[in-house]
Amino acid sequence: MKAVLDHIGIAVEDIDKALAFYKDALGLEVEEPEDVATERVRARSVPVGGPVLELLEATAPDSAIATYITKRGPGIHHVTLRVEDLRTALAQLKERGVRLVNSEPRPGAGGSLVAFIHPSAAQGVLVELKQRAEPDLKLDVKRLALGDLQLTSLHDGPIRLDGGAMFGVVPRPMWEKLTPPDERNRVQLAMRPLLVEASWGRMIIDCGAGDKMPPKQVDILALDRTRALDQALVEVGLTSESIDIALATHLHFDHFGGATMLADGALRPRFACARYLIRDAEWEDATHPHERNRASYLQEDFVPLEAAGVVDFFSGDSVIRPGVRVERTGGHTGQHQIVYIESGGRTGVFVADLIPTTAHLQDPWVMGYDLFPMDTLAFKKRFIREAIEREYLIFFEHDPKVAAGYIREKNGKRFVEQVL
Ligand SMILES: [Zn+2]
Repeated sequence: MKAVLDHIGIAVEDIDKALAFYKDALGLEVEEPEDVATERVRARSVPVGGPVLELLEATAPDSAIATYITKRGPGIHHVTLRVEDLRTALAQLKERGVRLVNSEPRPGAGGSLVAFIHPSAAQGVLVELKQRAEPDLKLDVKRLALGDLQLTSLHDGPIRLDGGAMFGVVPRPMWEKLTPPDERNRVQLAMRPLLVEASWGRMIIDCGAGDKMPPKQVDILALDRTRALDQALVEVGLTSESIDIALATHLHFDHFGGATMLADGALRPRFACARYLIRDAEWEDATHPHERNRASYLQEDFVPLEAAGVVDFFSGDSVIRPGVRVERTGGHTGQHQIVYIESGGRTGVFVADLIPTTAHLQDPWVMGYDLFPMDTLAFKKRFIREAIEREYLIFFEHDPKVAAGYIREKNGKRFVEQVL
């Protein structure tokens, strides 16, 4: 089990008096008070570089904090360790004969789950285990009409990638405020393919990571295959067989890994009735990987498509179908492209890894993964300006919460007005 220090709970008689030491004498920043009704306490967090000190004052005489203070006076009340999967952690502890106060997870502050281990099992220390809530992840299937086209934001579940790699040269103190990393320095992301339905058929743009990942990769990437593209399609009454066209922005595993599947030990196209549309120069790069991009271009994701004769290659910036065209951005990969969806005088743009999340709105916030970051920067500067002026509806493929929205600018600050 992996566990990291989340916070230390300190029982105080009067939270405001305690601030005379923590805030005034030490000069620490103290967060706003929070009432935790279930525990009958008021809490104020004092961040001290990662873990926090949590000052706890009883709000009722039968609160555990009140009892503690009556018996032992103010002092350290508990130590909280954060685990990824609380249920599994409790099962392990039970198996090892550790005495628990709570054998089942119970709701804690801010949507977290918590359980206490009995102090007799931990040398007199009350240890709390905590599983963080997922306030930073929202996986919904949502639709909207854009002119004559029906757009559906699908998802292939969550994925976590290294925070440093996601934000390139931006130092952690800046990005961690927008995207707090977990104990393995990973940030929460999603994979959100987009479905376009028109008179000419159903097109899926990108298709997530798919189900071929070995367990070690599933763990490293924190994939959750109980929430994936098949289920998302079912929510709108579709299956993999409903897809006529699968268009790739580029061939990285988190964008086109879902294009193939393993069945009876063989690799075959995942969308049985679809043509696969791939830019020829991207195919060239993907099938001739080098040391720097080999881990992202997994041959089993796309080579079987060509073998099955289902790929239609195209060259250069093209109109793919009426209302759908691609434009090369370069940067992330040499041939990375974005997809414009235009109908009824409106424009939606599926920006793939050009602006992977709403935390990447500032021009220099470019991913460390990008092979040609200066190309990303140049394209992005021009594109975001245009997107603001022309009110493009932007589809963010990797944002953990926002599937689509308009980029706005006010007093030089950029933000997204969420639509989906
Ligand atoms: Zn990506």
